[in-house]
Amino acid sequence: MENYSRRLPVYLLLDTSESMAGPAIEAVQQGVRTLVGELATNPLALETAYMSVITFSREAKQIIPLTELTRFQPPPLRVRPGTALGGALRLLSERLRSEVMKTTETTKGDYKPLVFLLTDGQPTDDWEQAADSIKAPGASKTANIYAIGCGPDVDSEVLYRITETVLLMPNLTPEAIRKFFVWLSASVQAVSTKIEATASAGAINLPAPPSGALEVAPRTTTAARRGNKSPRQVFLHALCSKVRKPYLMRFVRREYEERYDAVAAHKLEALEEGDTELLPPINSSLLFGCPSCPYCENPIATMCPCGALFCTPPGEPPTLVCPKCNSELVMGDGKDFDITRADG
Ligand SMILES: [Zn+2]
Ligand SMILES: [Zn+2]
Repeated sequence: MENYSRRLPVYLLLDTSESMAGPAIEAVQQGVRTLVGELATNPLALETAYMSVITFSREAKQIIPLTELTRFQPPPLRVRPGTALGGALRLLSERLRSEVMKTTETTKGDYKPLVFLLTDGQPTDDWEQAADSIKAPGASKTANIYAIGCGPDVDSEVLYRITETVLLMPNLTPEAIRKFFVWLSASVQAVSTKIEATASAGAINLPAPPSGALEVAPRTTTAARRGNKSPRQVFLHALCSKVRKPYLMRFVRREYEERYDAVAAHKLEALEEGDTELLPPINSSLLFGCPSCPYCENPIATMCPCGALFCTPPGEPPTLVCPKCNSELVMGDGKDFDITRADG
């Protein structure tokens, strides 16, 4: 046997779709920092664990290739529309093949990788085939995959198609995400400690997930959830008319009604070409309320004929200037919120 220092590859597959916007994505970002910081204080983990980060929204990207902990820089995470779960799984398979050292006749390869998939479980791309090939009988030998479904509307059937280990985080709060990363850190440390003993057996037991934050997912999605195909949340992009920066308005569907209530607005780093086209069309008559601008607190929003939605002061200002196309709008009908783009 050659003297190859066997690594424990750890892949984080992080959903960065818009349902993660706001405190959730900030908590995930903080969680990755904490994880790396904690693992670095454990000599065994520091020696064996290598980490990679794959994010997915409209497309999947490996933003950090498999890297030793001492050189791992927690990446900035940006929220975008779309949930390309299929793309993330295909990318994961490809990276497992190219980055993980196989055991050969002369060399013992890397330990079996740990994969932690954090997602809202509502993919927007073709994911079934990618899931099936990840879960195919022979493929179970390539990695131990743990799927964590986030938020109230995870379709656990989607996640069980990828792996047998599915946990739910029903409340996507910063505290629940923090507990998840503490558990993740304990899991990686447990595996790196017991690794020689467990590597041959194949099966590993992670520490119990934190109660109150994570729970084992039911095998089937409830009929009520499956029956309603309307998106649970809808998002609209808007611009602040004062600072001209983009933000995201979040609306949540009522339990048994086809209407959506404004719940929050989150600042966005930047909008990219094509992002807005990915938003599902929504009839404005289904939307109720308007979240105030996260930059200037303006309470309502106006749609310019150019398609831009922008924050607007209360009362009835005689004219408004669109922050996107700079045209002057004369306000007439006193309508608060009019989403002409997506009507119909
Ligand atoms: Zn504003
Ligand atoms: Zn305009």
